[in-house]
Amino acid sequence: QLTKLQGGLASAERAFSLLDQAPDVEEVFGAKALDRAKGNICMSKVTFSYDKGQTVLDGLSLEIPFGARVGIVGRSGSGKSTLVNLLMRFYDPQSGIVMLDGSDIRDYKLSDLRNQFSMVPQDPVLLSTSISENVAYGRPDADREEIMAATCSAGVNEFVENLPEGYDTQVGERGLSLSGGQRQRIAIARAFLKDAPILILDEPTSSVDVETEASIIRAMDKLMENRTTLMIAHRTGTLASCDFVLELSEG
Ligand code: ATP
Ligand code: MG
Repeated sequence: QLTKLQGGLASAERAFSLLDQAPDVEEVFGAKALDRAKGNICMSKVTFSYDKGQTVLDGLSLEIPFGARVGIVGRSGSGKSTLVNLLMRFYDPQSGIVMLDGSDIRDYKLSDLRNQFSMVPQDPVLLSTSISENVAYGRPDADREEIMAATCSAGVNEFVENLPEGYDTQVGERGLSLSGGQRQRIAIARAFLKDAPILILDEPTSSVDVETEASIIRAMDKLMENRTTLMIAHRTGTLASCDFVLELSEG
């Protein structure tokens, strides 16, 4: 019971740490609508620190063309997550500009901007509901057929087929607990369903078994086709498939 309780506390902590990233940013009056971005990303002399803390990014400039696959490396605390948080505008930089398709991201409607990104986190949190509902969360208006296509592309079917209740299996806090690799494949399925032009992947660090890892890599490879991808990489093997590698160090 104690381990169960600790497990529950750990996931509550994860859920709250996501909620803590409440938007500190405001939408400008008359913000531009953005249907589907091409996916050109540009940062110009971006300097950022949380509150009045230490400078995390110090005059960072970069340009990522549409469809490129960029690996992001750097030691823990070097600012990898911060970089992607700025891109999705969870924070605004103190100076410098972040641009998407040639426009300052502050000029876009916030919800439209966020819709351009699919994120596969390192340690995805599942909702306390069925597996199919968890995938559908990627795009609430998706129909059954689209959900099934996404789960197949992500390799979710590989483990769901062995569950007695299949896609109706309850997961999350009060349901079946899935492994990190299985949760990540559900997050990949959500991303397939959302079909956003820009993909942000946080590679799993935890050791999943070789078979699961191969399945995740296959699914991610398929997902990255025709999208701009930023991949926070913890293993050198993954970087081989990247067009560029960005190493963060000392801001
Ligand atoms: P890791 O590999 O461990 O995920 P990272 O490269 O993603 O590290 P960041 O999370 O971007 O690193 O953190 C960069 C710096 O900003 C660290 O010094 C961290 O302590 C600090 N930091 C991160 N998030 C916040 C926050 N919400 N408030 C204050 N400081 C933060
Ligand atoms: Mg991080």
